[in-house]
This record gives sequence, C-alpha cells and structure tokens, in this order.
Amino acid sequence: MAQSTETADWVSRFADDVIEESERRAPGKPVVVASGLSPSGPIHLGNLREVMTPHLVADEIRRRGYQVRHLISWDDYDRYRKVPAGIAGIDETWAEHIGKPLTSVPAPKGSTHPNWAEHFKAAMVESLAELGVEFDGISQTAQYTSGVYREQILHAVAHRADIDAILDQYRTKKAPAKQKQQQKPVDEAELEAEEGSGAASEDDGSSGSAGYFPYKPYCGNCEKDLTTVTSYDDETTELTYACTACGFSETVRLNEFNRGKLVWKVDWPMRWAYEGVIFEPSGVDHSSPGSSFQVGGQIVGIFGGKQPIGPMYAFVGISGMAKMSSSRGGVPTPGDALKIMEPQLLRWLYARRRPNQSFKIAFDQEIQRLYDEWDKLDGKVTDSSALPADVAAHSRAVRTAGGELPTTPRPLPYRTLASVADITAGHEDQALRILSELDPADPIGSLDEARPRYNKAEAWINTHVPADQRTIVRDEPDAELLKSLDEASQQSLRLLLDGLADNWSLDGLTHLVYGVPKVQAGFPADATPKELPAEIKTAQRTFFALLYHLLVGRDTGPRLPTLLLAVGQERVRALLGE
Ligand SMILES: [Zn+2]
Repeated sequence: MAQSTETADWVSRFADDVIEESERRAPGKPVVVASGLSPSGPIHLGNLREVMTPHLVADEIRRRGYQVRHLISWDDYDRYRKVPAGIAGIDETWAEHIGKPLTSVPAPKGSTHPNWAEHFKAAMVESLAELGVEFDGISQTAQYTSGVYREQILHAVAHRADIDAILDQYRTKKAPAKQKQQQKPVDEAELEAEEGSGAASEDDGSSGSAGYFPYKPYCGNCEKDLTTVTSYDDETTELTYACTACGFSETVRLNEFNRGKLVWKVDWPMRWAYEGVIFEPSGVDHSSPGSSFQVGGQIVGIFGGKQPIGPMYAFVGISGMAKMSSSRGGVPTPGDALKIMEPQLLRWLYARRRPNQSFKIAFDQEIQRLYDEWDKLDGKVTDSSALPADVAAHSRAVRTAGGELPTTPRPLPYRTLASVADITAGHEDQALRILSELDPADPIGSLDEARPRYNKAEAWINTHVPADQRTIVRDEPDAELLKSLDEASQQSLRLLLDGLADNWSLDGLTHLVYGVPKVQAGFPADATPKELPAEIKTAQRTFFALLYHLLVGRDTGPRLPTLLLAVGQERVRALLGE
C-alpha cells in the first residue's frame, strides 16, 4: 500500500529534521536513532515512551526508503542500586549485590535467565516484538567488558581536566545532583538520589587523591563499584584504585583493562559520538540546568561528536492502578498492557500525542471508551472521512515499514467482548453463542475470529475489574419486584418481551430497548431525540434500571442489548416474568 502522504503529524516533522541532520553529519550512512533502558528491575510501562518515540520516527524514515538503525542501549553495566520491592523470587540477601553491575547480580529464583539484567530485559524484548518495534540491542556490559570503548575511555581520561571544567560550570550553579533517571518515575529516582551518598560524584566522576576522574573500576575482588582511583599515570596508563567495600587494591593498565565504566554524564555523550546518534529523546527531567542531556551536549564535543536532536518527552501515566492486582506493587509493564489491549491500540496512544503531551494508559473502565474511539477512527479511515493527522496516527498504529501487525479478523466492540467474557465467566461455548447472535446476518463461526481482541477483553475483566463490579445474572426471577410493579412498568416489560424474537441481534435490541419508552409515551419507536420531549430520557433511565434489577439485581450493568444477548432469550423471558 502507498504510505507516502503522511506529512501531517509530529512523527513526520521529526523524520524530516532527522533525515536532514543525518545527511549533513553522515552522508550516505544509515540514520541512527537511540533509546536507553536500564534493566534494574521490571521495565515500567511509563518507560515505553523512551522506545516508542524514536521507534515511530525511525519507522517513518524507513517508510521513506532510508536505512535506519534504532539502537536500544541496555544499560546493564550500571550498578545495582537497590533491591526493588515486590519482586517474586528474591529475598533480603540480594542486598549483598548492591554496587555490582546489573549483569553480575543473580536473577530471581526460578528464572531461566543467567542474571538480573537479562531476566528483566527478556520481558521487554518480548513486548517490543509484539509491538512491532525493530531495534538493535546493545548490551553495555558486552561493550565495556570486551574493550570496545577502550580508545574513548583513554581519551576521556586524557581530557579529564576539560570534562571537569565543563561539569564545574554546573557545580558552581549548585544544580541539583540528579541521578540518571530518564526512565524512572520521579519519585523513585529521587529516592535513589537520596539514598546513594555521593550521588553527584557517581554521576559526574569522583575526585579522589588522583584528582577528578571520569572512570570507575568495578573491584577485582568484590565486583562492587565502591572504588576510588588513587593514582593514574598518563604516560603508562597505570591506574591504581582502592575498594572501600572490601579493602582490595590493585594497579592495572587502563589501556588493557576492561572492568569499569565511564561515569554516566560522560558515558552518554561518549556513546552519542561513538554511534553517531542523530535522534535520542529523553524524559522531561533532563531539561533542567546541569542535566545529563544538557551537560552531555558540551561533553560530546570532546569525543568529536554532536548532540542528537533530543526532544523532551512528557510523563505517561496509568489510570486504574489502584485496582490492579499486580505482583509488582502495582507497577505495570508493557507486557501487562499488552495482556489487555492489542498492540495497535498501544501504538496509537503514542502516535497520536506529541512527545511533549502527557497522557494516560487506561487499565480501568476508560479502556472501553478508548477502544470505542479507536474503532470509530478505524471506520473513518476505511470510508476515507478521517482527518490527515488521524489517518497518519492510525497508519503508524496498524503497520510498520515491515508490514501490517497481526489483527483480529472480526474486531467486535471491546466493551461487548468484555461484557460477554464477564457474563460467561470462561464458558467459551456460551460466549460463542452470544457473539454469533450479535449480527445474525453474518454470524461469527468460531471464537478465534474474535481473537486476540476477545482474549484481551477477557483478561481485562478477570484482572482489572473489581469483584463488586462483575455481572452476576440472577438465577431466579425477582418475584417480589415483579409483583410490586405498577401498570406502566408491566406494560413496558410486555412491549419488550413482544419484540424480543424479531429483534434478537445487537442492532435490533438496541432499537427495541430505546424504543419501548417512546412507544409507551405515544411516539413512534424510531422517533429521533429532537422529536421527543425531554421526559423520555427519564422514562428510558427508569426502564433500564428496572431491567438491570430484574436481570442482574443491580442499578447498572453492561449495555442492555449486550446483556440481553448474553443472558439468552429464554432466560430473559423467565427473569422478566413471562
Ligand atoms: Zn571490593
């Protein structure tokens, strides 16, 4: 299909800038965009923006026929800062590993992965595959321990006075000492900043007896980074460090040593230069003076590179978390979102908002409205009535340069699927019967036609809808309520029952339940709201409440047409007193 007309949205505009800049800096080379993720624990859903922003831009550039590399830097050579709460398979003994590289910390018990970082990386890799995100993953452990950055490290150390001078501009301004936190919710990052003594030096590099030093060895005895460089010889690159954790000390030659890393504020710009990164967005907290992005913009010159185009992206919130039954203390991952929504919907949430706009990802009832909105857009795109920017966002959601994402063959409304899953509680034969009655002219023949959307709706009902909001259809008619009904109420039930057989479809029942109060008031069943007095609305509400009480014993419930189909004609007749 042709995808050359998408010039209307933010993705396209960034793609223009990035292509232009790439051709200026590195003519004829693949365009390089980058993300960084720290597998220090479960990678939060909120951090997905770090990947989705460059992904969407990379994908647009690919659609235009350019070669693109989307690097995801796995910051797995970072120190293990703390034992996160709410992780299954770990205990207090994991605290012994604080200070080691994330790849030297054991994975939680029962994991099939070799270490902590790999364990949490794996879940993210799986989600990114489902989302259609194409990337080159780069393990910083692999890079550093194989000596890939040796020249850059020696260069940084040789120019440590220049780096120190740049950092000093911000130190004198007394900028807050920020931890590397582009992928972390602010509260956690602040917590960490407080707990780590000397947090500023950890970011900037330490000033030991050898003066300012932008490189930190991991201890050769205990593997922790609680080391201080005590001497360095620029001629021979002989470096002596001492470990404050275990007392170990040794002298190594930095030109052949591979067990340490540049401090974060130097590491990041070094990698911009090394990889030739043209586009790398970061979290809003990087906009402050002295932030790693800003300081990096100066330090990158020491490595002969340039700062990437780096828009700040706004926070992505989650709604409905309070109700969430999570083993991770209520912190959802992209995998949790993909259990309840198709990847297209999640991609759309990112594509339709500019990076500087914040938004929420719904785990509560709001997801039903969101899906309605998505289906409506899908319909408009199909009949060519959507606005260009909406068409662009839709296209970015449903396909990548590599092709269409897998779809649900019969995308029935999410709220209907959720109601059916709610009412049938795992009985698939019942669910299929109801779903095949939604559109009797073109019934679905197998539940698979409604999958995976059906599975997502079912998972949402089972994991995010509180027990007191689940629908339980009455076993027996409410004899007392039926007996107490006045003439008008009895008549309304009669009108409904008389119309059931002829209207047993989603559309037919919708028409019927809204029509009954109109007919009762002396209007045609198909009269439009404009032709009706306002009291009709009240009459409809009263009628609906009566039906809910008789069917499910509550004031409200799933949309009535869906509920009626779900309950089944025979049982509806019994519960309504026929
Ligand atoms: Zn040690």
